[in-house]
Amino acid sequence: MDVGAKIAETPRRMHIARTMPELHAALEQTGPVALVPTMGALHAGHLALLAAARQAGGAVAASIFVNPLQFGAAEDLASYPRDEAGDLAKLAASGCDLAWLPAVGTMYPADAACTVEVAGPAVLWEGALRPGHFAGVATVVAKLFGQLRPHTAYFGEKDWQQVQVLRRLVEDFLLPVRIAPVPTVREPDGLALSSRNRFLSQEQRAVAPRLNANLQRAAAAIVDGDDVDSVLSVAKAALADAGLPVDYLALVDALSLQALSFARPPARLIAAVHCGPVRLLDNLAV
Ligand code: AMP
Repeated sequence: MDVGAKIAETPRRMHIARTMPELHAALEQTGPVALVPTMGALHAGHLALLAAARQAGGAVAASIFVNPLQFGAAEDLASYPRDEAGDLAKLAASGCDLAWLPAVGTMYPADAACTVEVAGPAVLWEGALRPGHFAGVATVVAKLFGQLRPHTAYFGEKDWQQVQVLRRLVEDFLLPVRIAPVPTVREPDGLALSSRNRFLSQEQRAVAPRLNANLQRAAAAIVDGDDVDSVLSVAKAALADAGLPVDYLALVDALSLQALSFARPPARLIAAVHCGPVRLLDNLAV
């Protein structure tokens, strides 16, 4: 019998921690971790972050926490999809070593007095449309970093602006963690995977890939030297005509998120549109 192969096939036990003492006990077992923060309802996009973390070789932790602080009053906190049993099974199957599922009171004790406000890349776009959103994201991520002390944290490029906000958090507070961005995982028709896509009707799901298609067309036109403002206007009109009203569609500096009126590296096309009950976000390198 090939003992080595047998050992390699044995699934590693995944620690599940819900309280700080449980987390500390689990971290003593795992040693230093790479972290994949999530809000659960896991899909192949999240699993790509886990795969990237696993590929680095060390222990991997994933957090599942639907963070109330990053939802606006009119947003979908109560109806945000939750599937703890399914998520834990997916994490275990993808070789996660530690699942961290804190209660709201663990993340936000009654006497907590600090939040993290981010300016710079957090001001425009999602930041302008969702006041307080990035403060909520930066605050919860700072807490997760304090709790798990990860050497690396993996985030999806699907939320491009979020990655830049978290880069600033780490740089400005000299946090000893590396931010590792992971490319967007898409459906075969180009739609970026998202936990909220399950709320699309069949008709809406059929239209949703037009967002990525229009971004691709716009990126190609900009690379060809077409006038940026005209390209953006045409793309916005095409999206609106397709039934995807546009919150924003902009060419931006990929790090500062400032709008650009001509392409120069590093540039990114970023967009948010409405598709029925769901806001779809996407972005592309230009
Ligand atoms: P969420 O659970 O939506 O907060 O997402 C958790 C992490 O998964 C974030 O870093 C997201 O950017 C990332 N993520 C979500 N969807 C995708 C996707 N389609 N491709 C890659 N990463 C993603």
